[in-house]
Amino acid sequence: MKIMPNRLDLGFFKYQEEFEAKALEVLRSGWYVLGKEVSSFEEEFAAYVGAKHCVGLANGLDALWLSFRVLGIGAGDEVIVPANTYIASVMGITINGATPVFVEPDEFYNIDPAKIEEKITDKTKAILVVHLYGQACKMDMVTALCKKYDLRLVEDCAQSHGATFNGKMTGTFGDFGCFSFYPSKNLGCYGDGGAIVTDSEELAAAMKMYRNYGSEKRYYNKVVGANSRLDELQAGLLRVKLTHMQELTDERTALAERYHAELKNPKLVLPKTREGCTHVWHQYVIRCEERDRLISYLDEKGIGTIIHYPIPPHLSEAYAYLGFHEGDFPITECYANTVLSIPMYNGMTEADQSAVIQALNAF
Ligand SMILES: *Cc1c(COP(=O)(O)O)cnc(C)c1O
Repeated sequence: MKIMPNRLDLGFFKYQEEFEAKALEVLRSGWYVLGKEVSSFEEEFAAYVGAKHCVGLANGLDALWLSFRVLGIGAGDEVIVPANTYIASVMGITINGATPVFVEPDEFYNIDPAKIEEKITDKTKAILVVHLYGQACKMDMVTALCKKYDLRLVEDCAQSHGATFNGKMTGTFGDFGCFSFYPSKNLGCYGDGGAIVTDSEELAAAMKMYRNYGSEKRYYNKVVGANSRLDELQAGLLRVKLTHMQELTDERTALAERYHAELKNPKLVLPKTREGCTHVWHQYVIRCEERDRLISYLDEKGIGTIIHYPIPPHLSEAYAYLGFHEGDFPITECYANTVLSIPMYNGMTEADQSAVIQALNAF
């Protein structure tokens, strides 16, 4: 028996006929980039999130760095960002030449809202929150700080499609909500894809210009933009999947609830959900002091796991130039040394989950 930490094929086969019909429709249409599938998906995804506008892009990293580019944030500017995140969040800032200012996480793995204010300087231009593992950050405190200090707010929603804070969807609290549709995300396509959502018509129009070489009109280029277009095939497949999003999220929630009810081992710290926040369980992340021994133990039983993430951005070789050292962000570093994502994916069978639970309880 082999249980993978994630399976993407099961999600495809669940709606195989719909996906295949849409793929053929797009292939036969003769139109492959920025067409009616993309504009329909943009409308449908904006409606799903509760934002006025959505702009489809090539991937989640582009959504992040183009957001800061459109907001005019670059060299000499500081952006507050959680220390405990995937490195792409930080790259979205540094690609523009801006400086990331790291803030330690709370017990929910998200940016600790009580530790943000002490990091704000007169160079601070924005806060980038990341709704990590699928749980919304405590957005009331974050939006209050943005108001008080007149800061821009960008949300990294690459792991939080459908998650809410006080009933409001992640991605709708600030200037830009940035999404990735990488295949393993909760709303994943079958290649690369991304998008931003915003309520600002002006920001949406600017993003549309930036994604297409900085041009609004063909061959008239206003700014140095990017090639970051969502293609018709991915947009079409995303439209199919979006119609099943509630079902897919409910399935993940049921898996998480079962882990919660049945995992009983004092060696393991289970994930918690903050009051007012919902969790869409992109990952089910536990903590264990003997994490590395736990990984080999599970591996011997045929159970695969992943560490999200083993090296925090401030200690990554890519950011050696920022001059941070081990010990600078002890909570983040402690998480990096103890977290473990256990199998969680749409289509996971009851028997497979039972095997994971049994193995973890026997450790
Ligand atoms: C996946 C991910 C990204 C990047 O998305 P891509 O589509 O792979 O570029 C950014 N931030 C977080 C938190 C992610 O999980």
